[in-house]
Amino acid sequence: MARRKDSVPMADVPRAQACPKCSRVNSTAGAKTLQVEMRPVLTREVFAFPDALAEVSCVKCEGCGHWICLDYRIELDDNPEIDLNPE
Ligand SMILES: [Zn+2]
Repeated sequence: MARRKDSVPMADVPRAQACPKCSRVNSTAGAKTLQVEMRPVLTREVFAFPDALAEVSCVKCEGCGHWICLDYRIELDDNPEIDLNPE
């Protein structure tokens, strides 16, 4: 079994959130939690990254339809492989 980091729990969601696009203040009562597949960008230092799901808490702006991200949490099956001293 691979070592696994504990997931960081979701923060408490505020009751209202202003849209970053149109500044309309939206109630977060109808916030949804979506599962999004992670597509990490690999670098020389992080050369392998396990498949991961991100759980995203978000609410859709009633004014412009923009999805506002309230919080997210990344679920990893394994730890990323990091080499701080690449050749
Ligand atoms: Zn908006």
